[in-house]
Amino acid sequence: AAKDGGRGRYHFYAADLHSDAEERRQLEEELRDAVAHGGLELYYQPVVQTATERITGFEALLRWHHPQHGFISPAKFIPIAEDTGLIAAIGEWALRTACQDLAQWPQDVRVAVNVSPLQFANPALPTIVTSALAHAGVEPERLELEITESVFLNNDEGTDQMFKQLKSIGVRLALDDFGTGYSSLGYLRSAPFDKIKIDQSFVRGATQPGSRNGAIIASIVSLAEALGMETTAEGVETLDELDLVRMLGCSHVQGYIYERPLSAVNAAARLSTGLVAVAQGPRSARASR
Ligand code: C2E
Ligand code: MG
Ligand code: MG
Ligand code: MG
Repeated sequence: AAKDGGRGRYHFYAADLHSDAEERRQLEEELRDAVAHGGLELYYQPVVQTATERITGFEALLRWHHPQHGFISPAKFIPIAEDTGLIAAIGEWALRTACQDLAQWPQDVRVAVNVSPLQFANPALPTIVTSALAHAGVEPERLELEITESVFLNNDEGTDQMFKQLKSIGVRLALDDFGTGYSSLGYLRSAPFDKIKIDQSFVRGATQPGSRNGAIIASIVSLAEALGMETTAEGVETLDELDLVRMLGCSHVQGYIYERPLSAVNAAARLSTGLVAVAQGPRSARASR
């Protein structure tokens, strides 16, 4: 079409735009259907304590198995869910499902659930969280809510109130993807986080010579420690990365080096083989690859 000159090019792009909008509208409809008819699933990625190499919890991660397109990444459908308001239903479903799965697991295991900024802005969130916990019969301190820095974009009284209410329920709060958003250290003064999750973009490349990422990770760890918060290094894929984040003092590690996200059934099976995550297992397994 580009060879046709100006007019042809116009038509080419117009058709393209149309199909993008069309595809999105279609996905939106199918997502609505998936929410209503059980087309979503939660996968669970182990979170490992560095000091003990034990699985102390799992992060719940949404999966959508689309009937035609196969697996669609949450990175693609969460934004659609946020634009269309579907995130409210999806978020509530995720909280309820994660609590129900958690109820089947040992007492000393936690689950972390991602909470979208739009859910965080909903005054009903504390009620939804309380109800999910009560319905599943799990203690609030076993549930961790992962929140990104973007909730501070419109930092107002509502934000403060929400933090207070969630803390008073007794759930744990984690600051997700730290360092990638509009990071202002000011909010760490008052926001009651139990944990900072160091974004995988800092882990990636950290072992390369000349990388500044290690220095950044070290300073996040020392900040977190001074504030009495734990740290999880996200997206740890290699043995070198694992050694580095351990050396830098991250209290927890999450990444393919240990385990990819697992179905609820496989997560439970993983726990029943013993809580020790690796001892030397994956190290040697990985090294021999
Ligand atoms: P996130 O909360 O930062 O989750 C971590 C992402 O890193 C997950 O991607 C996980 O599968 C991936 N990951 C873990 N270890 C490794 C690793 O070693 N290497 C690499 N390359 N990646 C690793 P996933 O599952 O595709 O989720 C993407 C994002 O979608 C999440 O980022 C989160 O922002 C969002 N999301 C997922 N589930 C939910 C949910 O239930 N609610 C909301 N609001 N957002 C969700
Ligand atoms: Mg997360
Ligand atoms: Mg993250
Ligand atoms: Mg992320």
